[in-house]
Amino acid sequence: MVAALLQLQAHDTALLELETRAAALEARRATLHADRVALEQQASQARAAAEAEQKRHRDIALRLAAARVELDRRVAVQDAAERLAEVTAAVARVEEGRRAVSALEHESATSRKRTTDLAHRAQQLAARSAAAGVAHASALAALDTEVAALAESLGPARTMRAALAANVAADLLAPYDRVRRKRPQEAVVPMRGPACSACDTAMPMQRHREMLAATRIEVCEGCGVLLYASA
Ligand SMILES: [Zn+2]
Repeated sequence: MVAALLQLQAHDTALLELETRAAALEARRATLHADRVALEQQASQARAAAEAEQKRHRDIALRLAAARVELDRRVAVQDAAERLAEVTAAVARVEEGRRAVSALEHESATSRKRTTDLAHRAQQLAARSAAAGVAHASALAALDTEVAALAESLGPARTMRAALAANVAADLLAPYDRVRRKRPQEAVVPMRGPACSACDTAMPMQRHREMLAATRIEVCEGCGVLLYASA
């Protein structure tokens, strides 16, 4: 009775290790995927920023062209002005027009530099994302190989688990499975004298004697593990 249960526990411990490795591989797959998506997002955001700045630069160029036409017109008005009051007003309007053209020229130069910088950055990120794509593809292939190798052990180990569990009495298997969910490494432990070897809680003498006589498995009142009398 105890032997079958201990055999099951030993197997469950090995199975748990396989399951843990499988879960770690899946976590690694998720991380690889997230890294890949983050890089692609960065690249696409950089491309959008470069395109937006390029469009802004074109808008500025249009406004600059219009401001230059307007300045030429004001200069013509100034040249044609004869009376002093007209000349004074025209000169002021030409000055204002020059300031507008100069401000737009400055804005255009700044935007052109920004456009170049952003396009460069977008290019770099696209290249990095493409390189990462290649690296990720080979990392994923290696991961798939590992997962497949692990599956070859996991499948039979799960089948074996069912076979070993069938050897354990149902009224023992259910409590075992319940305890194991909380304490996967140590659901069944030997007694040390009249005490639980996991938590040291001592069993009442009478109950201990009955347990020994009946070679029963008992639940520890201290920590809830299944106890068996060690030889
Ligand atoms: Zn205990």
